[in-house]
Amino acid sequence: MSEEITRQIRVYGIVQGVGFRPTVSRHAATWGIHGNVCNKGPYVEIYAQGPEEKVEGFIAEIQNNPPRRAAILKINVEKIENSRRYTQFDIIESEKTKGEIFVSPDIAICEECKEEMFDPKNRRYLHPFINCTCCGPRLTILDSLPYDRERTSMKEFPMCPDCAKEYNAPATRRYDAQPVCCNECGPEVYLIGREERGREAITYARKTIAEGGIVAIKGIGGFHLCCDASNETAVRKLRQLKRRPMKPFAVMAKNLEAVRKECEVSAEQTRILDGHQKPILLLDKKKEAKILCPSVAPGNPKVGVMLPYAPVQLLIFRYDDGIKMPEFLVMTSGNTSGAPICRDDREAEAELSGFCDCMLSHDRKIRIRADDSVMDFYENKPYMIRRSRGYAPLPFMVSTPYRGQVLAIGGELKNSFCIGVDNRFYPSPYVGDLEDLRTVKALRETVGRMETLLEVEPEIVCCDMHPKYNSVMVAEELGLPVVKVQHHYAHILSCMAENDCAEQVIGVSFDGTGYGTDGTIWGGEILLSDLDGFTRVGSVMPFLQVGGDASSKEGWRIAVSLIYGMTGDRKKAAEITEKLELCTKQEANVQFTMADRKINAVISTSAGRLFDGVSAMLGIRRKSTFEGEASMALEFAAEEYRETMLEKSKQQIQETEKYGYDKEDTDTLSRNENLSETEEIKRMDDKLISAGDRLLLNTESLIKEILNCQLNGEDPGKLAYFFHRELACQITAACVKIRELSGCNKAALSGGVFQNRLLLELTDHMLLEQGFEVLKHQLLPPNDGGIALGQAVYAMAYLEKSIETKTI
Ligand SMILES: [Zn+2]
Ligand SMILES: [Zn+2]
Repeated sequence: MSEEITRQIRVYGIVQGVGFRPTVSRHAATWGIHGNVCNKGPYVEIYAQGPEEKVEGFIAEIQNNPPRRAAILKINVEKIENSRRYTQFDIIESEKTKGEIFVSPDIAICEECKEEMFDPKNRRYLHPFINCTCCGPRLTILDSLPYDRERTSMKEFPMCPDCAKEYNAPATRRYDAQPVCCNECGPEVYLIGREERGREAITYARKTIAEGGIVAIKGIGGFHLCCDASNETAVRKLRQLKRRPMKPFAVMAKNLEAVRKECEVSAEQTRILDGHQKPILLLDKKKEAKILCPSVAPGNPKVGVMLPYAPVQLLIFRYDDGIKMPEFLVMTSGNTSGAPICRDDREAEAELSGFCDCMLSHDRKIRIRADDSVMDFYENKPYMIRRSRGYAPLPFMVSTPYRGQVLAIGGELKNSFCIGVDNRFYPSPYVGDLEDLRTVKALRETVGRMETLLEVEPEIVCCDMHPKYNSVMVAEELGLPVVKVQHHYAHILSCMAENDCAEQVIGVSFDGTGYGTDGTIWGGEILLSDLDGFTRVGSVMPFLQVGGDASSKEGWRIAVSLIYGMTGDRKKAAEITEKLELCTKQEANVQFTMADRKINAVISTSAGRLFDGVSAMLGIRRKSTFEGEASMALEFAAEEYRETMLEKSKQQIQETEKYGYDKEDTDTLSRNENLSETEEIKRMDDKLISAGDRLLLNTESLIKEILNCQLNGEDPGKLAYFFHRELACQITAACVKIRELSGCNKAALSGGVFQNRLLLELTDHMLLEQGFEVLKHQLLPPNDGGIALGQAVYAMAYLEKSIETKTI
């Protein structure tokens, strides 16, 4: 018999309330392992004893076959020498340790519940609140821990005897399932301000949608506004009412089959689309797509799609009332622009009644709002855009053994905050834009709720440096010590934390605007960063951002300002502006005068504004009706150009193979000439300018070149692509230079501009080619929705340092 070994295994993640210990015990039996398993709050601890290969098999089994709803973040294995002998495998009952429980996010309805719900013989037939241990609301109904019915908004609904029986029987799927209920004892749906309840309410809502109306529907984390996504008139009406002319609407598809009709979906995307978190996925529309009407996502090659995750949403698509429903519904957050998503009837009546024909609500209260999460894909992996329902408040863990409790308030726009406990960091669900005071109120309230849930009393609070931000006001009124972190540095810290990196990195932080340490507007920054601080080693070449707040939405103002800056001559600038049809003569003059007198003009290095300016210059989008519209259009134009070029070069290769010779076509750049990134790096000298202690990306010469080509009638798509590629080259050149000076070989890409997948891909690939290790985001948004994590890690490191200094 081979020698026995003993291992201590700690499994971190969502391991509570998902049947983890019984599963481990089953695996132990399969592998003939002795020892025990115990819940330790933030992790499950296992002692495993047996022959080495069996112990290894057992550990692999836990990793590969955990319970279905578990989410393993990390497994630590330690050798135990001279262990006691175990004679069997035990499940050890344990008591909860204070503040160390993982709160589960909300889980989409499971297959079993779905089947029961549509089974006329089941006692939960068509029950809009069906759930089990595997599925249902969690975070959004929780008051405090431990997680049981008394501390959720389900406490108002005492279980009927049948439900209680299931709840108490270990053999059923509803054993210990806190929100369990049925048609007898559960919450009820109804129409706000109308008679209809239950069945009648659902039928009325379905009929309204089928006839082209708009309905507000209360789901898991808030209300949605909903209409037929194939009905152009209905979608247009919703756009008009919501005063949202262009910003894409997300849609909910009846099922996967419907999605496949309209969109390209990879196997990995299918897995996530239909998984238990059910985020909105940004999918490429198929060329032959016909069901979704144009107004859903105007001028956008992609569309945000999700599948039903709340039982009531399934019932909207499928019911026994004979009404024929569309396969796609617009499902957009139920709020007025800027305000948080409505979560109760009072809010819905105040904000949504003007947008819709009826409101389908229910009487299970939502404690914490959770908007739908939004996810893009990069190189076949998730690339989070908005992290909320289904993901929040899953923590990120870092290896540094911090001790302490911190609160990070997050950014001003796309706010989400983050609570740090030791080495675990819990980002909150999406809160919203804090320019709106209703959102500020929601932030205060959600901070309080999350602190209670996680049983945390922060010792310190972290926020942005901007003197006028509402987020800073919220942080300062808490009466705790406040540390302030520069916006773009927080982006880099968040990328480091997501990748569990505590070493120095060359941080490429590109986004809209943020308050710089020198009082100017930053936004295209290269920051040599570690947890102690950063040095601004590079940036976009500063330009004059003229036109105040308007310039952040009106890219033509940036374009005019850039042109004026480059020509330095009113007459010449006016001629160009007129030729490009950027604005009227009068508007141009106002811009010039403001620039001359430095009125409403700030020095800026904003990468986002540069994209807007180039978009306007190329005649792609003069202005944006929502944040990022102009730069997104620029990206799409560039991608379309690249697609066409790749298509052409593919044809060329095919023809070469067919005819055995290369058909020369000087107009079509071959893939090598057109897309090679290496060759570009070699002539990097004209890409950078040294300005004292900082490298400047020579964005000015790049824009000059683009402008000249545009005036010469070049294809704007080609120029859009050229802009992306050259910018990536400049970033790479700067990183190479900084590596020479600092010896740092790690780069981190963060900031909202890196939602632009073309720029991300080009920069990532060029840096890799230059031998860099490149840190990127994956499950945390690169945009401002992700910076709270960076702030929280900074606060934790700060706390540690201040304790060290005190003890010296
Ligand atoms: Zn279920
Ligand atoms: Zn019941």
